[in-house]
Amino acid sequence: MYAFTYERPATAADAQKLAQAGGKLLAGGQTLLASMKLRLAAPEQLVDLAGIADLKGIRREAGTLTIGAMTRHCDVAESAEVRADIPALAELAGHIGDKQVRAMGTIGGSVANNDPAADYPAALMALGATVHTGTRQIKADDFFQGLFATALEDGELITAIGLPIPKRAAYVKFVQPASRFALIGVFVAQLGDGSVRVAVTGGGNGVFRHAGMEAALGKQFSPDAVAGVKTDEAEMSSDLHGSAAYRAHLVGVMTQRAVAQALA
Ligand SMILES: Cc1cc2nc3c(=O)[nH]c(=O)nc-3n(C[C@H](O)[C@H](O)[C@H](O)COP(=O)(O)OP(=O)(O)OC[C@H]3O[C@@H](n4cnc5c(N)ncnc54)[C@H](O)[C@@H]3O)c2cc1C
Repeated sequence: MYAFTYERPATAADAQKLAQAGGKLLAGGQTLLASMKLRLAAPEQLVDLAGIADLKGIRREAGTLTIGAMTRHCDVAESAEVRADIPALAELAGHIGDKQVRAMGTIGGSVANNDPAADYPAALMALGATVHTGTRQIKADDFFQGLFATALEDGELITAIGLPIPKRAAYVKFVQPASRFALIGVFVAQLGDGSVRVAVTGGGNGVFRHAGMEAALGKQFSPDAVAGVKTDEAEMSSDLHGSAAYRAHLVGVMTQRAVAQALA
């Protein structure tokens, strides 16, 4: 093992200062520690966020659920507020990885990491969420910028995620059986103003909104409305788990299932 130092600040402001000075933020370690063991990352200092009470918890205010960055997946899945206001998000969190991953992984870590097959980015995009950092607020549409890329600057700390409570929503994923990540996951949301947003994860270089599905569902919110909507294979990735054509087909199937679930 190579040497590194470990800090456990008590406030978000102290964590931000340490990160801006070059420290690497540590949430639940579900990605970061594995990367270190594989020597894909070799930070000189870890800044553990686990002791910062302000970064945890879920609160409802004026049509929005605000979830602290250090809130674990299991806490989102079991939260009475999330189950009442955005049940699709509780369901999503309850199907991330396995029990151990859900007990340690955090919404902030997942969003900062922006794995191209992660579940939360689809929810944030479809719900029109806002990512709160120590210094600013970033709309989900601007935050996710492709494969493991986000709008975060070096050392910028996510403090919370603000999620507008939709009229109805659902998330359906076709699971890659070994990892439980999404081979394709589709989050469909009809917002309070009637607009429809559809976000796809697992398909390519990162989460994206599907304009064709949104246009069709904006006219008629039913599974039949999207039955004929195509997904461009050229935009899909292809690997040993599924070809681009297979993934493009799955987008249609998962969207129809998500709409049916949202209406149920
Ligand atoms: C076996 C396994 C299965 C999994 N299956 C799924 C799945 O089905 N679906 C899914 O979506 N995910 C899945 N994951 C990922 C998991 O859900 C974690 O959310 C993800 O790995 C991030 O982990 P973490 O929260 O512990 O963050 P860490 O690993 O601690 O950090 C990840 C990155 O985010 C940065 N970071 C952490 N917190 C912040 C913050 N507040 N502000 C700024 N940057 C921050 C870190 O510096 C690091 O670069 C799986 C992981 C494993 C190991």
